[in-house]
Amino acid sequence: MKFATFSEILEQLEQTSSSLKMIEVLSGLFVHLGPVEARAAAYLLKGKLAPDYEGTELGMAEKAVMRAIAASAAVPLCHVQAAFHRTGDLGAVAAQYAGDRRSAGLTLPQVFERLRKIACARGTGSQATKLALLADLLQHCSAREAKYTARIVLGTLRLGVAEMTFLYGLSKALTGSKKAKPILENAFNVLSDLGEVAERALRSGVEALRRVRPVVGKPVRMMLAQRVKDLAEIPKHISGLVHVEYKYDGERVQAHVPRSGDIVLYSRRQEDITHQYPDVVQALRDSFRGKQAILEGEVVAIEVATGRLKDFQTLMQRRRKHDVEAYVGKIPVKYFLFDLLHLDGQSLLQKPLAFRQETLVRCVQESERLTFAASTATKDLEEVESFFAEAIERGAEGVVIKDAQSPYEAGTRGWHWIKYKKEYRTELADTFDLVVVGGMHGRGMRGGTFGSLLVAAFNPTTNRYESFTKVGAGFTDVELARLPKLLKPYRLSAKHRLVETGVKADVWFEPALVMELTGAQLTVSPVHAVARERVKKGGLALRFPRFLRWRDDKEPEQATTTEEIYELYESPSGRRDDKPSVRRRPKYGSGA
Ligand code: AMP
Repeated sequence: MKFATFSEILEQLEQTSSSLKMIEVLSGLFVHLGPVEARAAAYLLKGKLAPDYEGTELGMAEKAVMRAIAASAAVPLCHVQAAFHRTGDLGAVAAQYAGDRRSAGLTLPQVFERLRKIACARGTGSQATKLALLADLLQHCSAREAKYTARIVLGTLRLGVAEMTFLYGLSKALTGSKKAKPILENAFNVLSDLGEVAERALRSGVEALRRVRPVVGKPVRMMLAQRVKDLAEIPKHISGLVHVEYKYDGERVQAHVPRSGDIVLYSRRQEDITHQYPDVVQALRDSFRGKQAILEGEVVAIEVATGRLKDFQTLMQRRRKHDVEAYVGKIPVKYFLFDLLHLDGQSLLQKPLAFRQETLVRCVQESERLTFAASTATKDLEEVESFFAEAIERGAEGVVIKDAQSPYEAGTRGWHWIKYKKEYRTELADTFDLVVVGGMHGRGMRGGTFGSLLVAAFNPTTNRYESFTKVGAGFTDVELARLPKLLKPYRLSAKHRLVETGVKADVWFEPALVMELTGAQLTVSPVHAVARERVKKGGLALRFPRFLRWRDDKEPEQATTTEEIYELYESPSGRRDDKPSVRRRPKYGSGA
């Protein structure tokens, strides 16, 4: 496929906010692509050159791109700078300077390769090399091609094509319907690489993807938990034996231990965070001589003398580039393992949890930095309740209740795992992970920053962000002062096309940053949009919201879903307008 044709597709995607239209466009694209082209297209549609976990960045700043545009059009840099000043969009500037230049007919893989070359330039003189390569590429581009090339290079191509929309489009291209989507989705959840899935599907067919296995070194998308508000709801979702584990307030880490070579630790966002935890890496190395495995658990800050668990904020001091070694001593951590996904060439994803954990215990040697998540196996709700009380007592934030017979469902938030936190129990509030989509200017004491932020839940079915509440409470002064700078890179001139809300914000943001907040009551609102289709008389909104913390470990698509909120609203303990804030005591209670 010519890059010119591909650029037309990018334009069509940019112009729509309908996920159905996106699926149509994507399926129309994939029927015309070969396997290698499909891999390139998969990355480029996300504005990337590789799967997220590789962290390949093009690494070009606005200034360098302006220089490349100036060089490609043989105009002085100050002209390009002035044009950028006027429009604020270097894509548009690149298009302007391409004028009516005809496309040189580069193909999609050719452009992809050139972009990779730009990304790979390293070391002294690499900035000049990148600039020259980009200027040369732009010289071969028509206006439309130049626009998208510039945006990809800058990392500002944000088409909002969600992974599930992408896979639906691919399924439609392959089968004419969404029939293949579950297989593609599972393959993506295991391999975490849309390019790999697209290439393999087009090369060997969908059926071959049924057999995908985790690969040591490539992160598996993590299995997630549903929530209940009352432990008495557990038997509705899991019958039989459950494993109840502490819910640690730390960082979820997936460890990849190869037979030889380097251990890699991945965060929940699939970032390589190995450098943060040299102590954990050493403990794994000592434990796993000659074995090959993928393990999961939570890294938690601890007090060495007492073994007491510390909170997430303490652990976050380990998130640093410099002084890592010093902080290994200052903030000691422990890795609490709770799952085993792969061992010595065998995938364990389909094995029951009970088997995976038995195998885990057999193959890991505990040490000062490495142990197993505290857990108990039971069928008795009262035992679950007392284990929860113990967990809270020991500094955990709650429990995760897991179906002993369940497989590891990569990338899925299902009812095989259920979380129950102390906030639910004490009924102070619920917690939600929400995406910032807008802001209200602050006045008086809050002048110069924001009075409140408009936040939204994610609806994976429609690929939209539905507004849920405006949050102004809970920020410290330092946090408040930092907001304008923190949010600046995401500022938009108008509401993002994927945001649903009746609120008129002063400032709009691209859905990018996720925050955790608490709130005390669900209510129906004429302006908010969560589950509006289902509630009918309005959208669901959250009252009394308070900011808790930023969730850098979550992508916007991993925010609390509108479905989760709707289920809370409908659940017996959900608070509705017509049953206002009755403080129900949980049925089974042992004070916490
Ligand atoms: P949440 O972030 O509220 O959706 O809760 C899910 C998170 O709880 C996971 O991503 C883990 O980081 C964390 N977690 C803590 N302990 C456990 C456990 N025993 N099993 C699973 N997840 C756990």
